Parts: sequence; C-alpha cells; structure tokens
Amino acid sequence: MRIALFGDIHANLEALNAVLDDAAGQGCSEWVCLGDVVGYNANPSECLELVRAMECPVVKGNHDDDASGDHSLETMNPTAATALEWTREHLSEEQREWLRGLRMVRQVSNFTIVHSTLDQPQAWNYVTNKFDAMSNFSYQFTHVCFHGHTHVPRVFARGARVKEVPADSIEIEDDLKYFINIGSVGQPRDGDWRACYAIYDLPARLVTFRRIDYDIETTQKKIIEGGLPHSLAERLADGR
Ligand code: ZN
Repeated sequence: MRIALFGDIHANLEALNAVLDDAAGQGCSEWVCLGDVVGYNANPSECLELVRAMECPVVKGNHDDDASGDHSLETMNPTAATALEWTREHLSEEQREWLRGLRMVRQVSNFTIVHSTLDQPQAWNYVTNKFDAMSNFSYQFTHVCFHGHTHVPRVFARGARVKEVPADSIEIEDDLKYFINIGSVGQPRDGDWRACYAIYDLPARLVTFRRIDYDIETTQKKIIEGGLPHSLAERLADGR
C-alpha cells in the first residue's frame, strides 16, 4: 500500500491538483492530509471541497483554526492576517464548521499525524532543529509520525540520540523512531518553488519525497486579481 501524505496546501489549487495527479500516477491508493488546507492563496473553498471529498484522514492546521474562528488576528504577522480575513470571507459558514471539526492528532494505520508537534499540538510550535524534535519524541508512541507547519521537508530520527537525516528517501529502520516533516504543497519555504509531498510505501517501509511542477503563473494571477497581498504571489516563486 502506497500512501500519499500532503499538507500546507494553503488554498493553492494548481499545486494541489498537480500533487494529486502525481500521487495517482505513483500508484498511491490512500491519502492523508496534514492540515493548513486554507490561508495565503486564492482558492480556499475549492481546496477544502477537494480534500473533503477525498474522505481521508485530515488534521487541523493553525490556518484552518484561524480561518474557522472569529477571534482577533491582531497579534499575527500583517500579511498572514490580511489573507486570513480574506479567507474567512471566502468560506461558507458550513465550510468553516468542517474546519472547526478537524482533530489535532490522529493515528492512521501504524503511524501518527499532527500539524505541528505532539507535545503541545495547540501551541503550534515550529520544529527547526533536533532540540525541538526531542520534545515531540517524548510524546510519540508510534514508530513514525508525520507533520508539517514549517513548510520545509525535514526528517529527525531518534535512536540513542536524536539526529537529522536528509529528506530524500528514508528507509524506516526498526530500532529508530521517525518524526517526518512532509513539506508544503502550496507554499514551500526551502528555496524550491515546486509543490512538495511524501509517499509512504508501507510494505517496503520506504518514505520518498516528491517535488512537482505546477502552473504557478495561474496561482499568482489569482492572488493578485483576488485582491490578496502581492507579496504572497512573489514569495511563491522564491519558495520562501
Ligand atoms: Zn502552513
């Protein structure tokens, strides 16, 4: 069984479609979404409906939380806050209700999924080094846990100690625990503009990262024509 794990879609419909097409071509038969379906880009409603129709496990991201609530966004960075206000206006109450109902943590097959970290899922902490990863491992009771949130594909493995391993093709070893960031479909931040997702081949015990070209010009055009901040279109091309 090959499972496609994708998240941080951020309302980028062209990137999401490209990823789903690629995953189908790669023989994936199961789908798992790591949250942040909406926020930043111009197709929140369309992306939400696509993901919802897949009826796959989905966990809640911080932008899903912010877009579906009514709380003040004052403390947030102004560009993200502007995009979230815009997103709130472009989702129906029923769609916002679906986002509110998403769970923070789920177990799927023999692995766990969470948007940020297992130690404090609601705190939306960012894992950028092995010390951040250590806190998560204390609460990780499955062999493998997948997450997102930083938009940077990254893999930490814990044996006698925690180490970072290159995020390309990971052979899952029995005596290690893995905390795997699958990168971002709709707004990568590792300097590569292409959509990112991962495939977990369960029988082969292999996790593979994939980078996919998509029609970025259309996504950028929709951001600008939709009245969202222009910087959101520019950062897509930079992969930042
Ligand atoms: Zn995100």
